[in-house]
Amino acid sequence: MPEAMLKFVSVAQQYPAKRKAEARARDFDEIYQEYARAKAGEQASRCSQCGVPFCQIHCPLHNNIPDWLLMTSEGRLEEAYELSSATNNMPEICGRICPQDRLCEGNCVIEKGFESVTIGSIERFITDTAFAQGWVKPPRPRQEREQSVGIVGAGPAGLAAAEELRRHGYQVHVYDRYDRVGGLLVYGIPNFKLEKQIVQRRAKLLSDGGVTFHLDCEVGRDVTLADLRARHAAVLIATGVYKSRDIAIPGAGLGNIIQAMTYLTASNRIGLGDRVPEFESGALNAEGKRIVVLGGGDTAMDCVRTAIRQGAKSVKCLYRRDRKNMPGSMREVSHAEEEGVAFTWLVAPEAYTGDTIVKGVRAVRMRLGAPDATGRQTPEEVPNSAHVVKADLVIKALGFDPEDLPVQFAQADLKVTGWGTAAIDFRSKMTNLDGVFAAGDIVRGASLVVWAVRDGRDAAESMHRYIQAKAAAEAKPLAQAS
Ligand code: FAD
Ligand code: SF4
Ligand code: SF4
Repeated sequence: MPEAMLKFVSVAQQYPAKRKAEARARDFDEIYQEYARAKAGEQASRCSQCGVPFCQIHCPLHNNIPDWLLMTSEGRLEEAYELSSATNNMPEICGRICPQDRLCEGNCVIEKGFESVTIGSIERFITDTAFAQGWVKPPRPRQEREQSVGIVGAGPAGLAAAEELRRHGYQVHVYDRYDRVGGLLVYGIPNFKLEKQIVQRRAKLLSDGGVTFHLDCEVGRDVTLADLRARHAAVLIATGVYKSRDIAIPGAGLGNIIQAMTYLTASNRIGLGDRVPEFESGALNAEGKRIVVLGGGDTAMDCVRTAIRQGAKSVKCLYRRDRKNMPGSMREVSHAEEEGVAFTWLVAPEAYTGDTIVKGVRAVRMRLGAPDATGRQTPEEVPNSAHVVKADLVIKALGFDPEDLPVQFAQADLKVTGWGTAAIDFRSKMTNLDGVFAAGDIVRGASLVVWAVRDGRDAAESMHRYIQAKAAAEAKPLAQAS
């Protein structure tokens, strides 16, 4: 065991300094500061270098965590960066926004008695340092290949695939209907979790490495899937899931009831300096209003915390299960509470009240009943518990489903699952259409950035194998003929 390690007994867990709640509620800057070099090394040295590292097993990318922690503790940061970036195309992004409490850190073996190693913050520190030192280079292939690939979607799945395929030497073309690269990293996730220049830095690296982005280009509207199949040796669908779920309750047609993505996209655009008329008119601005957010996932947490920063009069989050059973990260809930959000657990909306614009949400109290087939307790209504929660703006954060892919792409024979996600072969990642692959949320349903990166990497490897096998098969008859 290297002498530098196993310090968890003598060194306490310490995350990077978090800005005070009152200060961070006034702006959209990230809430954690960066570790100083010595602190990162000290925290990395708490790792006990497990023979069977559960942190690594539970990281979707199987990052080589113990080794880069050791290198960090020994001050070998460039090596730590090389190792960390070998398995992850955006370690500084995952280090910021992975729900580590459910993944690597939640499974760190010292977590029980001594609190986990702060893996995410160290991962972020390593790559931010690498950028600052100029160690991060654009993808440079060892050989150029003449074949091109088309990637639909510039979110994390598409970007991870783009980088891997470029490294293999393909001519990579990424098509996205948005005007910026990043997908939900830019227009979903707020700045206080992930500053946009961090995403733009990645996008620039790919452009500098030769990846071509076709922005404001919607596949299905500006170009068809058939066009892309004709143009490229293989195509990847990485379009994410964007159809907002809804609840059909009385009053649903009232004004000032909006979807979470509409609200968050407007806020992110304002942060990026764009003009958003609906924000300027006040329709998508929480300032001075009583805000009610429906839902208990990460999107709901982002909405409540955005509303606080916009200067809402009050912000309430209504969720039908209890704190323990909510899907959002516990860390995010704590941040929201510190910033002044009020959570009302175990309530379900029954109707919106108001004449033309919403005035409140009529809700009933719930209790958790018998577990369902998955073991999760089913909420049941408490009789005679209806009450009204006053609201000037209601934001619905109830989850997302895929758009109708075969219709969107005018490709009726493209197979989808019962949930509407792209149906792929588990091993090859290919859809039922020859040479068309899929990755990320469009395959898994709404998930996480780290899974999108993993899927993008896996799909890129499969696309490479597919293109090479096809090229070899085409070359064979020629060789036989000559
Ligand atoms: P996306 O990021 O959705 O990217 C898909 C891209 O495809 C988009 O750019 C879109 O414009 C483009 N596209 C779609 N259709 C077309 C078309 N027809 N033609 C051209 N382009 C098209 N995950 C975390 O790990 N941590 C978090 O803290 C976190 N917070 C989140 C907060 C919010 C508000 C939301 C909504 C999600 C959050 N997630 C978080 C989930 C995470 O953002 C997604 O799992 C991840 O972005 C999925 O990546 P993707 O590449 O599959 O899709
Ligand atoms: Fe943890 Fe996410 Fe980094 Fe994996 S990618 S080590 S889960 S923070
Ligand atoms: Fe280190 Fe924790 Fe991973 Fe063990 S589980 S190798 S202690 S980070």
